[in-house]
Amino acid sequence: MNLILFGPPAAGKGTQAKRLVDVHGMVQLSTGDMLRAAIASGSELGQKVKGVLDRGDLVTDEIVIALIEDRLPEAEAAGGAIFDGFPRTVAQAEALDAMLARRGAKVDVVLRLKVDESALMSRIAKRFAEQGRADDNPDVFATRLKAYNDQTAPLLPYYQGQGKLIELDGMGPVEAVAADIDVALGKVGK
Ligand code: AMP
Repeated sequence: MNLILFGPPAAGKGTQAKRLVDVHGMVQLSTGDMLRAAIASGSELGQKVKGVLDRGDLVTDEIVIALIEDRLPEAEAAGGAIFDGFPRTVAQAEALDAMLARRGAKVDVVLRLKVDESALMSRIAKRFAEQGRADDNPDVFATRLKAYNDQTAPLLPYYQGQGKLIELDGMGPVEAVAADIDVALGKVGK
């Protein structure tokens, strides 16, 4: 199964993806984690994208599509991927559909975690205080939220049109959201 966890930054995608990995043995493909690892390693890619992440803008489609394509064989071997933070543009979604189709696979379901903006702001203030992740500071977070609203939210009608979108309340405690995810996956027969 290939599953997309969809939602704005700080909606809980990473937390829920990690739980699905633990419980269901799937592979988490987080482009944000891959980009942060590249930056931490000081690689050429890391040096190229650091400023973009620091500003809260999106890196180019080409970069993230290549990162995902590299990891698809590993995900396929594990029985499927949880895409976390990818796709973030319609071009990325179209590329993902094409990459999976070449492998005889598809996106099975898109789970949207709905969290209102004021809740996101307080979550992020807490995460910034606890973890000090630079792009969680309030100004950069505002840019990330704008990128979500302008470039990523248009994916909702894309996946709705494909009949793949399931909307979940992402406001509750982690365990409650996790339980709703399991129910939703059960309904799609996964
Ligand atoms: P995340 O941890 O998913 O919030 O991603 C952190 C940052 O990495 C984002 O603010 C973007 O700068 C970059 N990024 C992650 N995934 C993507 C993507 N699919 N497309 C473009 N930029 C991305």
